[in-house]
Amino acid sequence: MTGPSFGVFIGRFQPLHIGHEHVVRQALSQIDHLIVLIGSASVARDPRNPFTYDERAAMLRKAFAYEIATGRVIVEPLDDHPYSDTAWCGEVQQRVKRIVLTVGNHDGFQASGLADFPVHLTGYGKDASSYYLKLFPEWDNIQIDGQYGTFSSSDVRDLYFRRIPEVPGSILSPGVAHWLDEFKLGEEFRTLLGEREYLDDYPRQWGKGPYVTADAVVVQSGHILLVERGRLPGKGLLALPGGFVDPGERIRDAAIRELREETGIADAKGQIPPAMLASFIDDSRTRVFDAPHRSLRGRIITHAYLFRLPERRKLFGVKGGDDAAHAQWHRIGDLRPEQFFEDHWSIIDAMADL
Ligand code: NAD
Repeated sequence: MTGPSFGVFIGRFQPLHIGHEHVVRQALSQIDHLIVLIGSASVARDPRNPFTYDERAAMLRKAFAYEIATGRVIVEPLDDHPYSDTAWCGEVQQRVKRIVLTVGNHDGFQASGLADFPVHLTGYGKDASSYYLKLFPEWDNIQIDGQYGTFSSSDVRDLYFRRIPEVPGSILSPGVAHWLDEFKLGEEFRTLLGEREYLDDYPRQWGKGPYVTADAVVVQSGHILLVERGRLPGKGLLALPGGFVDPGERIRDAAIRELREETGIADAKGQIPPAMLASFIDDSRTRVFDAPHRSLRGRIITHAYLFRLPERRKLFGVKGGDDAAHAQWHRIGDLRPEQFFEDHWSIIDAMADL
């Protein structure tokens, strides 16, 4: 005898539209419980991910209040691991296992393990970005009748982030359309609109790339050196010290130059010379970070260098530099992914066991 059946639906839902809702309804007609995992759950707001996890969960509650209240739809956050699909799959599997065993046994069924519950994956392979639907061969697919309309969330965002937004009511359910109407009256919308306009203009000013940048992951006695960005894009977010490589400059030298310029890193004798900083680089950890959508400015490929500074009771001195508003040491355990610019949190995470 098998227990209740589960579906898994993964998406960013930036924002939720009636195509997504169609998938949820079709899935619910075939399984007992649908687990909706809201991806990119802990990233900072930007024009591609404008709404927080809580806001997207609220949109789902607008459309599926009854199904959520009765436990037929279960909504949970899911973090990205852009440099490890294996880590991401592991997180999906763990989450699904926990929910299935908790909810499944609650349904009055005493399971001996996960195998007692049929689990199916749902979603629509809209383009290359849907490759992740193939990462879970252990789950059967729920058949969905193709795409519902030809629109995507990015079409909705294109219409929404305008000086005079054209909220496309025909592809949003009323509760979500109303939610978006309210959101556009707030400060967050204005900030996102400013960022979107800046980014739309970026390729005209600087070309389309690819660009090469260098970033410094600087650690000392349980702390990491970060800058708070002083201008668009990502004003106010935390970032690794770093920047564009100059023509005729080696990438490693660019990392050292940017680190000195942006943080003014100094010991008791004054600013640390480039050769000394170079001696702190752990070359075995140098890594390229090239996720195609890691930056909304264009195609930017970065090289990250790990600087291991000597353990000391007094950390090296730092000061705000040129385009960084403020350089500061942070206790590594205090940081949260949503505080970070672009994929800088994932870079730190990938270079972990610092
Ligand atoms: P999305 O909101 O664009 O789409 C969600 C689902 O809805 C997809 O199956 C899509 O095909 C379907 N859909 C979209 N429009 C539809 C329509 N009109 N009709 C019917 N179905 C429609 O979300 P997404 O970008 O596909 O979300 C994937 C999430 O998984 C992201 O958060 C991504 O970061 C994450 N992810 C992470 C990793 C990693 O970190 N290594 C790897 C893969 C995916």
